[in-house]
Amino acid sequence: MLDSLQRLGKHLEKDIDFFDCFIEDPTKGRKGKEQYLVRVIFDLDEKKVIADPIKYQREFAKVYLWVGNTFSAAREKVARLTTDNLKYLMENTDSGEADKTQWKFVEKNNLISNTLTLIYEFRQKGLSTSKMEELGEILSELKETFIKNGGTVVFENFDEHLKRQAVLYTVCVRKSGRLIELAKHEGYRDFLRLDIERPSDERKGTCHVCGSTTKVFLDPAFRLGSLLKVWVKDKRGFIASISESDEAILRTFAICVKCRNEILSGWGYVKQKLNLPIANAGFNAYLIPAIQESLTKEDLDKLSSQVKDAFDAVVSYDGLLKFEKALKDYSEKMLKESWYMLTVVFGKPESAHFRLLSFVQDVPVTDLHKLREQIRDVSNKACSFFEESQKSWYLGFSEIYRLLPLRKGGRGSELDWQPLVELFSSMLSFSPYPRSRLIKYAVLLARVYRFQLFDIYSNIPEPKARESDRELCRALLKFNYFFKLLEDMGVVGRAISEGGEGIPIIEWESDERLRKIGEWFREMGYGGLQQGLFLLGYLVGEVGKAQYDKRDEKKSILNKIDFNGMKAERVITLSNQILKSLRDYRLLTASNERIYYHAMKLLNKHLDELRVNPVENAFYLLSGYAFSTYIRLSGGGSRD
Ligand SMILES: [Zn+2]
Repeated sequence: MLDSLQRLGKHLEKDIDFFDCFIEDPTKGRKGKEQYLVRVIFDLDEKKVIADPIKYQREFAKVYLWVGNTFSAAREKVARLTTDNLKYLMENTDSGEADKTQWKFVEKNNLISNTLTLIYEFRQKGLSTSKMEELGEILSELKETFIKNGGTVVFENFDEHLKRQAVLYTVCVRKSGRLIELAKHEGYRDFLRLDIERPSDERKGTCHVCGSTTKVFLDPAFRLGSLLKVWVKDKRGFIASISESDEAILRTFAICVKCRNEILSGWGYVKQKLNLPIANAGFNAYLIPAIQESLTKEDLDKLSSQVKDAFDAVVSYDGLLKFEKALKDYSEKMLKESWYMLTVVFGKPESAHFRLLSFVQDVPVTDLHKLREQIRDVSNKACSFFEESQKSWYLGFSEIYRLLPLRKGGRGSELDWQPLVELFSSMLSFSPYPRSRLIKYAVLLARVYRFQLFDIYSNIPEPKARESDRELCRALLKFNYFFKLLEDMGVVGRAISEGGEGIPIIEWESDERLRKIGEWFREMGYGGLQQGLFLLGYLVGEVGKAQYDKRDEKKSILNKIDFNGMKAERVITLSNQILKSLRDYRLLTASNERIYYHAMKLLNKHLDELRVNPVENAFYLLSGYAFSTYIRLSGGGSRD
């Protein structure tokens, strides 16, 4: 994967600015509409410091070279002329009655002094340029005039209000009436580039990427750390989850300046053009192409947007619409010849680092198309079955995110995305995912709705109280389609069943309700046991409806279902209970009687199978309940 990035980077070398992949967005995670870049003007003529705010615009990050305060350890000294935090320059002397406009320059970790020190170091090593020396002279004068003597200074035009609105500060100088923005000074570009490229622990060594013996970085704790981890894992041949203990492996990892720059350029491009959020989930997918070197930048951009669209169609219904609209412009041929594979990386962009969640290597672009077709097919089936909009039954990644209850993880309020990205990875690579695990998620989803566990599993949207039952049912039915999708893809195996003999479907067609059930069985490919459980669950729905109508809004019959799993004995007890309730509520109509008869016949026939998997039993029972309830509620039923 890193070789793909590196090849991409090499390819782009002449096309993109060195700093492009380092520029950060200072507004990320900040609230408030009014945002400012504050020019901190050191007036050498009048010996004063003035704040000059300009309304922040997106291109400022690049114009004033905002690349973050440090690259490696947080304790490293900040040597920048554009920063997002004033504390690296000066602080308010807030001593009791002191005038609020009185400020003093910080002595430790002062960015002007730090920059000067580094320039001095570069000079010692013979790395300095004439422009950098020029910048150094200006900074020395600043230091002599303002910082050296300690003491306080009036920071004109600056107050707490502006402090809250400021997203960036940049150091400027007024000298002989002329204003110089130091971040735009050529010497600063030379300086910053050298600072970025300078191995923090300069040492001769062997680059683990290209193999040459040269100056290498031994400290990988810069922005690429997380990706390098992938590379190391990759080489070692295991791709499973990535843990913190891998830091140790990384310490032995070395990379040369050239390789790092190329990889960073490639990564910068991916971040700009091939990065898309999994809607609402809080993390992104990054698509890393395996391109041929013969592509022009223009063709590369074109292909990137096509592949991004293709992936977006797998993510959401809106993505699908966009993809289909753009389809006519697609150059299948170019895609096939120049870019047939990609690596998908799931990760969370964080301010200084990138947090890797999971990745899938070598996904053929054609597989993306195959996946999209299958998602679309199954969603179409669902929407025509229930006669509802396609959007509400689409099963893209964004919708799957709403089906898999995720717990809050170790990091504060963030969800633990691991189960989800593992599932996505299986889907993208069409590789097996354990059926039993998926069943557990389905039943857990039902519990979240039934017992209102939305606080714990906050990715499941909490419905309004009166829609709670309906949403539970919809979610379970959608999960059935999700199962079908994964079964069709060969990702999830079908349940062990003694053949799908079940019920001769023709027998049901006399009755509209039964015909619909038969249609469902055919669509889902249920086996005999699954059908039996489903039918019993269907009757639970009938009884539940009667209870609801008698003001038992919680439907006490549902208490007979253990949402954690239904052992065979409990299923049998439930079936007796159902028969009694059908009688009590006068529900033993001809069709209910037939449903009961078939349910019992099937359950008795598959009694051994019934003992195998209680969780699966619960899922199919609940599916039957959901089916009967949802059809009634959405077909102009008694309660909407
Ligand atoms: Zn190298």
